[in-house]
Amino acid sequence: MQSCMMDFPLSLVHLLERAGALFPKEEIVTRLPDKSLHRYTYADFYHRARRLASALQKAGLQKGDRVATLSWNTYAHLEAYFGVPVAGGVVHPLNLRLHPSDIAYIIHHAQDKILIVDDVLLKLYEAVREQVRLERVIVVPLSGQPVPAGLESYEDFLASGDDDFAYPAFDEREAAAMCYTSGTTGRPKGVVYSHRSIVLHSLGSALPDALNLGMQDVLLPVVPMFHVLAWGLPYTGVMTGCKLVLPGPHLDAESLLELYASERVTKTAGVPTIWLGVLQALQKEPTRWKLQPMEMVVGGSAAPEAMIRAFDQFGLKVLHAWGMTEMSPLGTTSRLKRHLRSDPEEAYRYRAMQGLPTPLVEIRAVGEAGVVPWDGRSLGELQVRGPWVAAGYYNLEEESDKWTPDGWFRTGDVVAIDPEGYIRIADRTKDLIKSGGEWISSIDLENALMAHPAVKEAAVIAIPDPKWDERPLAAVVLKEGAQVTPEELQAFLEPRFAKWWLPDAYVFLEEIPRTSTGKFLKSQLRERFKDYKAKAQP
Ligand code: AMP
Repeated sequence: MQSCMMDFPLSLVHLLERAGALFPKEEIVTRLPDKSLHRYTYADFYHRARRLASALQKAGLQKGDRVATLSWNTYAHLEAYFGVPVAGGVVHPLNLRLHPSDIAYIIHHAQDKILIVDDVLLKLYEAVREQVRLERVIVVPLSGQPVPAGLESYEDFLASGDDDFAYPAFDEREAAAMCYTSGTTGRPKGVVYSHRSIVLHSLGSALPDALNLGMQDVLLPVVPMFHVLAWGLPYTGVMTGCKLVLPGPHLDAESLLELYASERVTKTAGVPTIWLGVLQALQKEPTRWKLQPMEMVVGGSAAPEAMIRAFDQFGLKVLHAWGMTEMSPLGTTSRLKRHLRSDPEEAYRYRAMQGLPTPLVEIRAVGEAGVVPWDGRSLGELQVRGPWVAAGYYNLEEESDKWTPDGWFRTGDVVAIDPEGYIRIADRTKDLIKSGGEWISSIDLENALMAHPAVKEAAVIAIPDPKWDERPLAAVVLKEGAQVTPEELQAFLEPRFAKWWLPDAYVFLEEIPRTSTGKFLKSQLRERFKDYKAKAQP
């Protein structure tokens, strides 16, 4: 029997129209590069996003064309988040922390046609310009300076659009946005999100037991809009009609605390490294900032229980969340069931776990002998499925082993699931290093090191770091009779990698421990060097 329900498309057009119609007076505040605040309303945002869509269409944008952005969290970036997809295009934020050669690779692989770039990031564009073929480059004059001669201004481009723009028809399954993850081994991989997946993810994220976001909130996403669509928060936020505060390039603790206080922020989100800085600033000057009761979503790396406890002292609630680029990204949040609230110690234990899956996300943990029981002890690889989980990478057939034959995505995270259904991440199957919320590929560093004439073998591992969570340590075996200093190795790597990728420490070994199949036994190295104190910091 067929239902009586409409087959109503889940699309970003609906979210944009809703924002324009219902919340025109609500504010969107952006911190500009000179630290002044740019303010406008949802009504302004709505008109400008539609103008951008119209201008793109007039400029010849075809269905599915990729429009890349190289931008901080700003009002103009938000306009692109909506204006590009409602014109039928695919918005593709580029991670500006990557090495220019990786950015060039990504632009090339995604076949980006147009680039919208903040004027303060033009130097980065210059570093990739020769390596890519873009049809059009549009510069957002964020700094208030005139756009350099020969380049097109975003404001002039918007002026070429019409107000009476008509949305093209499209299927809810069509692409709306894409992001590349470097959180896997090898080259960055593209994940393409659909209108449907973004709308469902926004609904799921806003739920009370997920991020609990509503129109009474003032939301400040610290997590960059170039990393997994800022955890989808620009879309979720606009859907709910909350006030948005976008921090631009100023992500230091003092700048954030100022904004939290002056804009009366109630909800914020970022990686542990950011919160550690904020915590230290608060502990140094506990009465300086008058903050609202605020919830701080922490994800990207594990939130230490000590941090959760410390923020409680300031009336700030840490909410632990887990997700991945391949999951749009929200997978789990650690809110407490009613019966887990009574014992404070137990409550902290649960809040430090990664939490319960959001509705529509299914989880299982799979060990060598199959699906493991939910006993809180048995470890297995976390596998997930759901309507906002990727079913494949963009244009990369060979990565199909990331999906099981029965259709689950293999996250590469090793977890225990407790009898209540809360997950706890114990380890990662992939040998990656996560520093300040961004990935460093140990394999890339090893390959580069092993190209040095004095190096026989190199294994790069993560060592715990109080500020960045993890930092790379390189264990090096030299060729017989060869000599080299850590400084020489560092200088050798420097031209190839972003500065923050370079190892904090080098240790010279007689040999690297190996598994029975001859692979580096990195777990043994990690155990051996877990207390290693590296001197240099990025
Ligand atoms: P990305 O795709 O860059 O967002 O990275 C996703 C990966 O980050 C996950 O597979 C985990 O390894 C790690 N991750 C994300 N959130 C957490 C968390 N709350 N605790 C521990 N690891 C996390």
